[in-house]
Amino acid sequence: MDLKMLKPESLMMSYGYKPELSEGAIKCPIFQTSTFVFKTAEEGKAFFEVAYGLREKEESEELGLIYSRLNNPDLEILENRLTLWDKAEDCAVFESGMSAITTVFLQFLNPGDLLLFSQPVYGGTSHFIEEILTRFGIHIIPFDAAMSKEDIIEKVERSGLSAKLAMIYAETPANPTNALIDLLMCKQIATQFSTPNKEVLFAVDNTYMGPIWQHPLAHGADLVLYSATKYIGGHSDVIAGACLGSKSLIQQVKGMRTFLGNMAGPWTGWLLMRSLETLKARMNIQEFNAKRVAEFLEDHPSVDKVFYLGNIENPRQKEIFKRQCEGTGAMVSFEIKGQESEAFKFLNSLKLIKLAVSLGSTESLAEHPASMTHAGVPLEERVKYGISEQLVRLSIGVENYEDLIWDIKQALDQVSVSTE
Ligand SMILES: *Cc1c(COP(=O)(O)O)cnc(C)c1O
Repeated sequence: MDLKMLKPESLMMSYGYKPELSEGAIKCPIFQTSTFVFKTAEEGKAFFEVAYGLREKEESEELGLIYSRLNNPDLEILENRLTLWDKAEDCAVFESGMSAITTVFLQFLNPGDLLLFSQPVYGGTSHFIEEILTRFGIHIIPFDAAMSKEDIIEKVERSGLSAKLAMIYAETPANPTNALIDLLMCKQIATQFSTPNKEVLFAVDNTYMGPIWQHPLAHGADLVLYSATKYIGGHSDVIAGACLGSKSLIQQVKGMRTFLGNMAGPWTGWLLMRSLETLKARMNIQEFNAKRVAEFLEDHPSVDKVFYLGNIENPRQKEIFKRQCEGTGAMVSFEIKGQESEAFKFLNSLKLIKLAVSLGSTESLAEHPASMTHAGVPLEERVKYGISEQLVRLSIGVENYEDLIWDIKQALDQVSVSTE
């Protein structure tokens, strides 16, 4: 039987792990070790030849365990399991989402290259692109969900740098308004600017939707990135990241990771394997709950606008959603009638939902993007992307949805009492 025929959720408890190599333990132990003993000097030599790319790996040969900055069983088994959700050839895990993202930039961009990136992107990513990549002579051009393919191509051509375009980087849906970036369109732009000597890579941050509700590799992306801190970890107790793609690209990413030394440790690998066992179950419940919360908010008189993938009205956005998304996610943002003070009153009145940034966890979280996650975005851009003072972002967890709605309702009631 080819295990890859089974659904990923059926394989998360066992895939890639051999109990007989670990005293029969049903679960993969934590391999808390920095280095591994070679059976012979010849074996050590053979492992290093493969690890340092001095020769190609034989068909049946596995990369031997050397040193935990290069490889470790907890990371390798986790990486194998993660590939199943996105049907990727290979995966590299990192000590954070930011380290996955920045390692991809450092591996595939060179001074003089052009990076085309979607806006708004995660604050840390935006800082790295605008403040750090530019220090190394990398040119950057932003685009957003409102621009057409022609608008974007024209912007690249007008820059005079189209021959230097090396990567398109997209985050979709955009945080916190759920605006969708068209993956197929990005791939077409990458293809248009690729030449026989230079392929324009297309990388997607799929943290908001993955690995269940959107599979960018199936829509033309070359690399998929995750903050595994969010849905993959899912319990607000670990920081981690991942990058998936073809064997040859991931080999290059792992090469850079070896020298930056930003791989995840064995504890993180073990925690994430534990999280993956319940990933599908958690995300199903979160999606179910989010739908009910969004429906409640839409009907509430104190709520102006609800930003949720289940209620898209714009026809182009709706078409993109149908084509590239497989679920409506668990992120719901909404505008409270009023201003910052009403939004704050709501946040301060919540009893069950926690006031914290981050997302994708078992517990529901609420935050105020304009003054928290997006405080670093210039006012003009915040206005452009709909990140208003009255906007509240919710990440819906696995609690009972009636309890979540009860909490949101009582907090909204507090707001209307104070404004009457
Ligand atoms: C959280 C997040 C990141 C950064 O991940 P860390 O694990 O915090 O380093 C990147 N992209 C998105 C969309 C995120 O939500």
